[in-house]
Amino acid sequence: MTEFDCQETKRHVHEFLHNELNESEIEDITAHLANCDSCEADYDMENLINGSIKEACDEVPPQELANRVLAEIRRIQANGGQH
Ligand SMILES: [Zn+2]
Repeated sequence: MTEFDCQETKRHVHEFLHNELNESEIEDITAHLANCDSCEADYDMENLINGSIKEACDEVPPQELANRVLAEIRRIQANGGQH
């Protein structure tokens, strides 16, 4: 699996929120977001903007999936400690 660095992650946050990434890319990006406050802040910001724009849209929001994955990763980290 490819590891996303900060630059890569921030470049893909937009696509991520617009559901333009494949599953493995979504996993990679969420894994990075879970470990990186800077990128998570970026994501939150995009998410906020994106959410207010597409309020009228019916599509399943990828951020819902992301939140689930983030919660899962946090739970694993809380249990396991170091990676
Ligand atoms: Zn980062």
